[in-house]
Amino acid sequence: MNEYVTRQELDIFLKALAFAAEMHTGQVKKSCGKLPYINHPIKVAGLLSSISPKKDITLLVAALLHDVLEKTAADPAGIKAAFGKDVLVIVREVTDDRSLPDTERKQRQIESAGRLSPAAKKIRLADKICNMRDIMTYPLGWSRQRKLAYLEFAGKLAAELRGTDKMLERIFHREHSAAVRAIRGGE
Ligand code: ZN
Repeated sequence: MNEYVTRQELDIFLKALAFAAEMHTGQVKKSCGKLPYINHPIKVAGLLSSISPKKDITLLVAALLHDVLEKTAADPAGIKAAFGKDVLVIVREVTDDRSLPDTERKQRQIESAGRLSPAAKKIRLADKICNMRDIMTYPLGWSRQRKLAYLEFAGKLAAELRGTDKMLERIFHREHSAAVRAIRGGE
């Protein structure tokens, strides 16, 4: 398999980007100032693209769409029709139940981590790396305690995702330790 992206693959990737941007219209990433929400899935897809030794357009398209079912009015049938069943299955796997409170959702992410497909595991881990980067980059207005609680959750989840991808796990652990040290150091 060659590593060049074909015209058709680029078209579907850009179609997913446009779809996600449209669905997330008006949304901003919580506490990241006025940063449009779409920057988040773009960063998750970008991280996965940069660490993947092999081209995987299905993974990258699913990464762009990973929050549309959870956070927008996008419907599963539309995703399936436009991007295929494989993409929909992955997006569904990483979609939390919106009716549950935050702590319960996080607990479920930890409990279900081991049952996810390899692609869904990669998206979960890349998602947490990008969220940690946001915590370290933006003022957020979070208390030290809240930041540490998030890092604790991310650490537990990453432990359940062990074996997902060496490179991704190395990045996670390096940045997680640095974040914990930086935030604890300020105590
Ligand atoms: Zn996300």
